[in-house]
Amino acid sequence: MKKVLSFDIGGTKIAYSIIDENGQFVCDVMKVSTPDTAEGIRDFFKKTIKDYYADINGVAFSTAGAVNHEGTRITSFTGNLPQGYNETDFVKLTDKPVLVENDANSAAWAEYKLGAAQGCCDAVVLAIGTGVGSGIIVNGKLLKGKSGAAGEMHFPIDSGHKRVCRGCGQPDCFESFASGTGLAMSAQAVMGENATTYDVIAGKNKGDSLAIQVFNEWQNYLTKGMIMLGNVFDPEKIVLSGSLAQFVEYEKVEKTINEAILTQPLQVCPAKFENNAGMLGAGLLLLEKL
Ligand SMILES: [Zn+2]
Repeated sequence: MKKVLSFDIGGTKIAYSIIDENGQFVCDVMKVSTPDTAEGIRDFFKKTIKDYYADINGVAFSTAGAVNHEGTRITSFTGNLPQGYNETDFVKLTDKPVLVENDANSAAWAEYKLGAAQGCCDAVVLAIGTGVGSGIIVNGKLLKGKSGAAGEMHFPIDSGHKRVCRGCGQPDCFESFASGTGLAMSAQAVMGENATTYDVIAGKNKGDSLAIQVFNEWQNYLTKGMIMLGNVFDPEKIVLSGSLAQFVEYEKVEKTINEAILTQPLQVCPAKFENNAGMLGAGLLLLEKL
């Protein structure tokens, strides 16, 4: 059975493991702190690939940033990763087959092949963390866009507040309201300047009316965005992942969305895979090509 080494590259940690054709992790998921230079990251890749060389048929990378159609290079800025990392020539790291994919796209592919969106033809997987990422499956394929950056969740919603988005610079942007950062900013406006997303969730669980108000407002922003996605992509499912997905009131949100969209039904559900979804999805994408 074919196996690939798959890396998930984040700003603080790089995780990696070996994945087989059934989508099983053949060994434990290993984690290291992300080296602080692009050169250090490349050296780490080379050393790790060498360690597993005899056991693998290829190497997959799930990374921040937009990735080209060939799955070989990053085409955009990569946020909190070291300068120069986005210029990495992944193909040069090894003589085995290589595939690079954006982390949100990779996670969406894992959900589509083996997770919450399995059996769907069209699905949107939203990752709600510090920001909001997404992977969009259209007719069984990942939607890439001209530069690999399709699925960026920057579009205007009617928020009633003006808040300049840190990502796109526009006011009223979905990401700046529906993300964890957005929830924290909404909390700070009414619960005090040091309020966090944790305070909102803890407060809501204790029945605190301000926290409930902030949470409901956040969930409404998220719902508005999903109504837009429902109408534009007409998916069977919207799958929610990331640290805030577990707090969403699925039944209520799904009902509101279905009352608003043009073609029902649209299911809204939590992701099956969490932290390892990117690694798994990138590995599966490569295995399909081998
Ligand atoms: Zn934006």
